[in-house]
Amino acid sequence: TEFSSPPLDPHLISNIELARYTTPTPVQKYSIPIVKAGRDLMACAQTGSGKTGGFLFPILSELYKNGPLTSQTDGSAPRGLSRSRKAFPNVLVLAPTRELASQIYDEAKKFAYRSWVKPCVVYGGADIGSQLRQIERGCDLLVATPGRLVDLIERARISLSCINYLVLDEADRMLDMGFEPQIRRIVEQEDMPGVHDRQTLMFSATFPRDIQHLARDFLKDYIFLSV
Ligand code: AMP
Repeated sequence: TEFSSPPLDPHLISNIELARYTTPTPVQKYSIPIVKAGRDLMACAQTGSGKTGGFLFPILSELYKNGPLTSQTDGSAPRGLSRSRKAFPNVLVLAPTRELASQIYDEAKKFAYRSWVKPCVVYGGADIGSQLRQIERGCDLLVATPGRLVDLIERARISLSCINYLVLDEADRMLDMGFEPQIRRIVEQEDMPGVHDRQTLMFSATFPRDIQHLARDFLKDYIFLSV
């Protein structure tokens, strides 16, 4: 299919075929080579543009190629989880609402099918106990709303020290909902790799001044994509 140029990992391609996607959408066509080249990205794209695949495809492809990044501080523990039952995801996707987070999680499950990557989702307004049990079963790609993630970090159940991909989806909506303090808290968390030690992708429908400031603070030498 057209998903093979530039080449994505064969396992990902087979999962894309299972989902019956034949042609990348414009945002996917442009974002895949940018992310695979290791660049930070600021993309202006609407819901329905296929932006979820725009970040999941290149990230999963690179994860399949490179394998898991394991914790340096808890090397004896099983991958993704320490003896303290703390999870060490490699990918963090922040989203404004439970609905969007669940949609991203459903896509992640489709494309992580039969791979080592275990996706998880956490959001506010729902029982935290079942979310904690899900995290304990393995958590390589975490989709989260900002408030609930701050809670889990405070409970020491999530470490951000193994994050190599950080995605802020619908960043403008997250700011409209008043999540800026929680987002800054997460990204500036002491164990979160710094801007030069992670790849950061930001998606937003609009690019007003407050989003430009977030891009300036969280991204490095980024490519701006508008579709
Ligand atoms: P999104 O903008 O990521 O929410 O995607 C909008 C819808 O398009 C979702 O239902 C996706 O499953 C679907 N979709 C995304 N990429 C493709 C593609 N390349 N081919 C067909 N459907 C797609």
